[in-house]
Amino acid sequence: MDQVQDRNAPLSLFMGDLLRLRKPHPCGGYEWTVVRLGADIGLTCITCGRRVLLPRREVQRRLRHFVSRGPGYEAAQALIAEQEARVADVTVADDKPSAMKDQDTDGEG
Ligand SMILES: [Zn+2]
Repeated sequence: MDQVQDRNAPLSLFMGDLLRLRKPHPCGGYEWTVVRLGADIGLTCITCGRRVLLPRREVQRRLRHFVSRGPGYEAAQALIAEQEARVADVTVADDKPSAMKDQDTDGEG
C-alpha cells in the first residue's frame, strides 16, 4: 500500500527499507536500500552496489516511494500498534464506589 508522505513531517527511514528515487543513479538504477541511519542516510544502489551518503532531507526530497520496508519498519509499526492498544486498554475509573458488602456472619444462627 502506498502511504502519502507529509512533506513537512520528518521522514521515517529504517534499515533495510527499499526506496525508489526520482532520478536514476548514473548506472541506471532507481532503487536504493537503507544501510545506515543518522544525520546522513547511507544508501546502497541495488543495481551497482555503490554506496552514498545523503542528508535525510535530501533523501526525503528525492524519494519517490517506498518499494518495500525493512524489518526495522515492521518492528516500529508493531511497537506503535502495541502502544495504541495499551492506551485503548486503560481501564476507565469506575464512578461507583465499590459496594460495601454487608456480611451478616456474626453468630451461627
Ligand atoms: Zn548504481
